[in-house]
Amino acid sequence: HIYLDNAATTPMAPAVVEAMTNQMQNDFGNASSSHWFGRTAHTELDAARKTIAQSINAKPDDIIFTSGATEANNTAIKTVAHAMASKGKHIITTAIEHPSVLESMKALEREGFNVTYLPVSETGELELADFDAALDDDTILVSVMMGNNEVGSRLPIKAIGERLVDHQALFHTDATQTYGFYYIDVDALHVDFLSTSAHKINGPKGVGFLYRRPGYKLLPFMNGGEQEKKRRAGTENIAGIVGMAKAVSLLTPEVKAKHQADFYGFKQQLLKQLDDAGIDYALNGSLKPDNPNHVLNMWLKGLSTYALQTNLDLAGFAISGGSACTAGSLEPSHVLIAMFGKDSPRIGESIRVSFGTYTTAEEVQAFGVALIKIANRLHARAKK
Ligand code: PLP
Repeated sequence: HIYLDNAATTPMAPAVVEAMTNQMQNDFGNASSSHWFGRTAHTELDAARKTIAQSINAKPDDIIFTSGATEANNTAIKTVAHAMASKGKHIITTAIEHPSVLESMKALEREGFNVTYLPVSETGELELADFDAALDDDTILVSVMMGNNEVGSRLPIKAIGERLVDHQALFHTDATQTYGFYYIDVDALHVDFLSTSAHKINGPKGVGFLYRRPGYKLLPFMNGGEQEKKRRAGTENIAGIVGMAKAVSLLTPEVKAKHQADFYGFKQQLLKQLDDAGIDYALNGSLKPDNPNHVLNMWLKGLSTYALQTNLDLAGFAISGGSACTAGSLEPSHVLIAMFGKDSPRIGESIRVSFGTYTTAEEVQAFGVALIKIANRLHARAKK
């Protein structure tokens, strides 16, 4: 079986498994305990926080460990909206965010906040003019993802951050799909909050973090003990956090540069294969050499997502019909709807392929061969 669904989740790196196993077997203490076991666990927590902070040019104190990006997104969006409610009721986001952002926005709308969902172009990109038109004196929060999980588009985080420097609105970005591939400097981008998750970068599931800009007093989303300086109660998932830090330490600038070159190469290689075989397809998104996103989303004209996905699965290739959340249900992709409208045939005829650390050119080649075979077979069957 060949795994080409790295935007859904990634396999854990062997070094991550090793670090976690060692942590669980030898250093099982509760980081809040004052005895040796507790202190050892606390030391590991501190070391992990330092590694992770450095990865985005932040200070350790500004990293809050969470159960993943869903919790980090919920925390940032809801607690900031509540804290800022006396200054305004308007929030800006995009129509193509992850459900953990969109559903948080809907929850806030039910409480009386007004949310603007910015539209995107047919390549899944944001027009800054739309952002400028939406921003007003009532805006208290802006949440825009760094890169999209279904089509791989890159959003203009730095430009938005710069626009908000002298504005009261706080700026949150969901960096879950880009953290492993982009060079991120929270100061240079002017972001106030950043969310991400370990399981997209060859780390474990159920752990992630929220960055919050220095000095901002984050209201707790989880109430309870005094962990994370009272910003997130609950005994820390130390094995997960240690695993996440190990995964982060593997992502050196050299590795990121290699990923960027590899992913762009894989995308070109696959599309050339399809072109050479005369397959009728179009990209959902765009192919840009400087976008290190690992996602390739394609419309295979006239072929159903379901048929493609199940036939590819039978042939041993794991891809997705959209995001992992939408693939399991029959919900059409809100991202493709935002790009092409709800009546576009692309909605039911597209697949997402996403590469990862362990993807090889041979696997991509084999996938191309299988996809061409399946596409031709399905077309032939449809003609009968
Ligand atoms: N945000 C984006 C863009 C994602 O792709 C995901 C992945 O599922 C999440 C948030 C949620 O992350 P987690 O699974 O850690 O809750």
